[in-house]
Amino acid sequence: MEKRRKNGGTVTDQGSQASTGNNLDPWYFNYAERTSGLAASEVRALFAVASRPEVVSLAGGMPYVSALPQDILNGTLEKVMRERGPVALQYGSGQGHERLREQIMEVMALEGISGSPGDVVITTGSQHALELFSKLFIDPGDVVLSEGPSYVTAMVIFKSYQAQVEHVPMDEHGLIPEALSEHIARLKAAGKRIKFLYTIPTFHNPAGVTLSEERRPEILRIARENNILVLEDNPYGLLYFGKKGPDALRAQEEEGVVYLGTFSKTLAPGFRVGWALAPHAIREKLILANEAAVLSPSSFSQLVISEYLEQADWRGQIDTFRGVYRERKETMLSALAEYLPELSWTDPAGGFYVWLTLPEGLDSKAMLPRAVRELVAYTPGTAFYADGQGGRNMRLSFCYPTPEQIRVGIRRLSTVINGEQDL
Ligand code: PMP
Repeated sequence: MEKRRKNGGTVTDQGSQASTGNNLDPWYFNYAERTSGLAASEVRALFAVASRPEVVSLAGGMPYVSALPQDILNGTLEKVMRERGPVALQYGSGQGHERLREQIMEVMALEGISGSPGDVVITTGSQHALELFSKLFIDPGDVVLSEGPSYVTAMVIFKSYQAQVEHVPMDEHGLIPEALSEHIARLKAAGKRIKFLYTIPTFHNPAGVTLSEERRPEILRIARENNILVLEDNPYGLLYFGKKGPDALRAQEEEGVVYLGTFSKTLAPGFRVGWALAPHAIREKLILANEAAVLSPSSFSQLVISEYLEQADWRGQIDTFRGVYRERKETMLSALAEYLPELSWTDPAGGFYVWLTLPEGLDSKAMLPRAVRELVAYTPGTAFYADGQGGRNMRLSFCYPTPEQIRVGIRRLSTVINGEQDL
């Protein structure tokens, strides 16, 4: 049967948009097929509700930028505009500002990474590096392996390039090597083309776990033997609470790993500056893709960050952030122990997130409207899987609310969860 397009022409019922689009949209039949997976993420839909001041939001992953030294940043901005205004306000290199790429090598050295600033490509946040990398590597139907659960907005990108996301299970020591081998063998036997393994090995979003020192070489070996590129996403590695986390995977393997970093969590996400460190050939393609997408990343943001790294005690500032987040994590865990002692949760050694498991029979997504009525918000676990798992989980972020708000939020959450169990 044929349907009439609003803007003229006809289309058959078989069109993929016919089943996924919105009939009120006059361009409903014109969207590219790859947009069929582009639904507002559960995290995004929550932002509007959770940003009401009376709601304690344990949902978003916003860094606590109020802990930044405002006066120092003001001075940095002023200096950049006074001394380098014409450069800051101009287009720049598609690869990114050279001095900043050198400074990024110093930042990555803290996690055991060495290499050449010539292999760094600066992007508009690491989110944009994920987009560019996906554009380079994913053809429709390709398999992307990722931990289960995984970072929601990376999966949105993978799906927008029509990848099939396959989750590999984790435990408290991170991705399970045997499970990775099994998945690869099964997918290969089914004739699937596996393009890369996307992994957040340190202080995982959303699971809050870290891939152990022992498993790291094992994961890299499995990837190498199966010719699978590793995409290492590491926004949280420097935000450890006690002992420094293990060195990055990229510290152990250069050719088979593309590493993504960002200033969003160690400085501020508003600058939108992240980067990729890639083997030469991939780096070349990333630069071309970056130029095609944005011409050049923001010169202004890059120069401000470069000046900040030059002048400010940025290591000390990261230490301040560690203290802030450690206190919040401890508050969250002690509130959970007090108000919800029968549940289980992860105990992150760094980063922003705790992953909570609900009792059998409860559904975190169905429970959310009630939680918001009780003035607390979280992210349902299903948001972090491509395949509907995670119904009994939720991600709790401790990065943004104050310790007092965290306690109130967990108390409210306990009212909701205990109320559900009484139903
Ligand atoms: N990867 C992960 C795992 C993240 O948690 C985030 C931010 N929440 C990003 C990438 C994107 O960060 P940005 O674009 O701000 O660098």
